[in-house]
Amino acid sequence: MNAKKHAMLRDTFHSPDYFRIDDLLSEEHKLVRETVRLWVDKEVLPVIEDYCQRAEFPYQLIKGLGEMGCFGPFIPEEYGGGGLDYMAYGLMMQELERGDSGIRSTASVQGSLVMFPIYAFGSEAQKKKYLPKLATGEWMGCFGLTEPDFGSNPSGMVSGFKDAGDHVVLNGAKMWISNAPFADIAIVWAKDEKQEIRGLIVERGMEGFSTPETKGKWSLRASATGELVFDHVKVPKENILPGASGLKSALSCLDSARYGIAWGTTGAAMDCYDTALRYAQQRIQFDRPIAGFQLTQKKLSEMITEISKAQLMNWRLGVLKNEDKATSGQISMAKRNACQTALSVAREARQILGGAGITGAYPIMRHMMNLESVITYEGTHDIHLLITGQDITGISAFK
Ligand SMILES: Cc1cc2nc3c(=O)[nH]c(=O)nc-3n(C[C@H](O)[C@H](O)[C@H](O)COP(=O)(O)OP(=O)(O)OC[C@H]3O[C@@H](n4cnc5c(N)ncnc54)[C@H](O)[C@@H]3O)c2cc1C
Repeated sequence: MNAKKHAMLRDTFHSPDYFRIDDLLSEEHKLVRETVRLWVDKEVLPVIEDYCQRAEFPYQLIKGLGEMGCFGPFIPEEYGGGGLDYMAYGLMMQELERGDSGIRSTASVQGSLVMFPIYAFGSEAQKKKYLPKLATGEWMGCFGLTEPDFGSNPSGMVSGFKDAGDHVVLNGAKMWISNAPFADIAIVWAKDEKQEIRGLIVERGMEGFSTPETKGKWSLRASATGELVFDHVKVPKENILPGASGLKSALSCLDSARYGIAWGTTGAAMDCYDTALRYAQQRIQFDRPIAGFQLTQKKLSEMITEISKAQLMNWRLGVLKNEDKATSGQISMAKRNACQTALSVAREARQILGGAGITGAYPIMRHMMNLESVITYEGTHDIHLLITGQDITGISAFK
């Protein structure tokens, strides 16, 4: 099938909603979702394949993401945020990741990992200085927690800073940092002289701070990933987040981002399922549509079952988030479940498309490769399983 015919199929994208979750959404939620969905159709889908093939980040999308309020939609309006609830945030992430996990990652990092910590732990001056510009995308940010030798175990980090009067001197390095190559600011987690983990706002242009890009990725190719290198960087004390103390502050940001990932990866799964269903209904082999074969129906039936389960879990988690009752354990479970669901749906969808499934004429292979990063970042698949284990037994098996 050629690209033009593929585009015609995409125009008729039908969002799977087997359990009528739409009935549970407010008119505002539906409006938010529709706005982002149409924007993805218009701005992301026509270009994303090309950017992925070239391993480039589509910078031009930042403006639209800001205009739609995808950066920090849950931040109050007085700081430039959208003042929306977590259900709206989840729906935005679902629609963005239907387009591409890299675009959703950019929005997740900006909202949950940069704006959220400034809002939750920042001084009033920091909130006023940074949040409005981050909300529009005029400034972009990144989040530096992972280090070359400390991934699943960030508490062992070696990046640290020392007091030097009106400023501190920061040394160390962070690795695998989304948005790093173009970020204007970085939320950096580093240890003070008492070995306590603190959050600092490091700005591009500070002497000794560099952000080399990570090349050669086969996954999240349309997302810019890089390192953060700190070589005796003088950071003014006013850039330390006063309310952030200990790893728990960094982990609370990850809770917000992981919540968005649960919704986002479900969006990627919905796209793969919809593509596979349409293809199966039109592809003729042995004089009949392949959708009529039992083995294809098994694949499609299992896909929609798993997607429906993920959608219901996300919706319920959204209700709990809005009531401020969602636990880290529930968020871990939802992130892990949605990533696993999306990857299996992508793999089954790829099979249904046969050889065509490996090409860029369809989104499936791109989603599948992206999801290999998403199932690893913000806590690996196994670590999230062990978080559930710890939650239900009271015993940690990983630390
Ligand atoms: C594309 C991309 C973007 C990213 N963006 C960011 C970002 O913006 N900011 C940021 O800070 N980080 C980011 N990360 C880093 C990401 O969060 C880490 O890769 C992740 O936490 C895993 O760390 P690691 O890669 O060092 O793997 P490791 O921690 O070395 O884990 C390797 C394997 O060992 C397993 N393992 C480790 N410890 C245990 C244990 N106790 N029990 C059982 N199994 C265990 C893991 O589950 C995994 O399977 C990004 C990563 C990628 C790939």
